Amino acid sequence: MPRIDTDIKLDFKDVLVRPKRSTLKSRSEVDLMRSFIFRNSTKTYNGLPVMAANMDTVGTFEMAKALASHSLFTCIHKHYSVDEWKAFAAENPSTLKNLAVSAGTSQTDVVKLAQIVKAVPAIDYICLDVANGYSELFVQHVKTVREMFPEHTIMAGNVVTGEMVEELILAGADIIKVGIGPGSVCTTRKKAGVGYPQLSAVLECADAAHGLGGHIISDGGCTCPGDVVKAFGAGADYVMLGGMLAGHDQSGGETIERNGKKLKLFYGMSSSTAMTKHAGGVAEYRASEGKTVEVTYRGDVNGTVLDILGGLRSACTYVGAGKLKELSRRTTFIRVTQQTNNIFGNSS
Ligand code: 5GP
Repeated sequence: MPRIDTDIKLDFKDVLVRPKRSTLKSRSEVDLMRSFIFRNSTKTYNGLPVMAANMDTVGTFEMAKALASHSLFTCIHKHYSVDEWKAFAAENPSTLKNLAVSAGTSQTDVVKLAQIVKAVPAIDYICLDVANGYSELFVQHVKTVREMFPEHTIMAGNVVTGEMVEELILAGADIIKVGIGPGSVCTTRKKAGVGYPQLSAVLECADAAHGLGGHIISDGGCTCPGDVVKAFGAGADYVMLGGMLAGHDQSGGETIERNGKKLKLFYGMSSSTAMTKHAGGVAEYRASEGKTVEVTYRGDVNGTVLDILGGLRSACTYVGAGKLKELSRRTTFIRVTQQTNNIFGNSS
């Protein structure tokens, strides 16, 4: 008989962070930098662990340049050619420590990954990304890539439960991407009925990963800086953003002008837009599990980054965390039925 798990699982919208007495005098005292030593690669990371998603429209070289200037990270999408990588690396050597090269599981992806890593030896991170990280084939893929690249730090996902986090770490991954269904342009929950509320997924997966000396990325579902705070509060080591970084000068996707308003196209990586662009259409056996939206043009991404970092610093002062590292230890979530007062609408 099918089983029902009646434990309550929560999303970002279901909680707020309770303030705590604090000795911090100013937000400027808060240190958002983190350093990690990875379990399998044994490499060290130093940076501000907010990252751009490996989507066409967000994980661009332009985004990497802007984000690296704030010590943020970018998972570069997998559609740049080896020559484009070489040219970028030659011109922007200082950004390379803050980015990852992405690949799926296909043979073509693996061949290209090997070519890029060979052409740009300063790349330390590989992001292995599939919509469903639960298949035995994916675990095998992580093992193969670990053997091919014993010294690279490997990110792998996506999953949402502790046992699969453990399996991928034991297969050789260092950082596990957590999130199925929460994304702004994701339709998996509607098409497949599969998913897991993101805050609970992060709480449970962080616990599993940290128990083994691994790390996690909370991937998807952040709609505002407060959600980024909640993901870190729940134990995420990194927070990955798609929609919050869309619509900027540095984002990919065409700019459209309609009725005097500037808009930019943003689409999921398994939307029909992406599949038509990269794979010549949606294969008949699969439904597109992503959508295409037009977002308001938002100018330079630097303003958005400062807004996110400002929110993080503010949260740290509210709970008395002098460092981002201390945020989850000082976080108590309270369940709520309402987040904001929307009498004047719910835009910022
Ligand atoms: P966001 O920050 O926009 O809420 O979520 C970004 C994340 O959504 C990405 O990092 C990725 O994990 C996920 N995503 C991107 N495109 C698609 C898609 O087409 N379908 C699904 N199911 N998820 C997607």
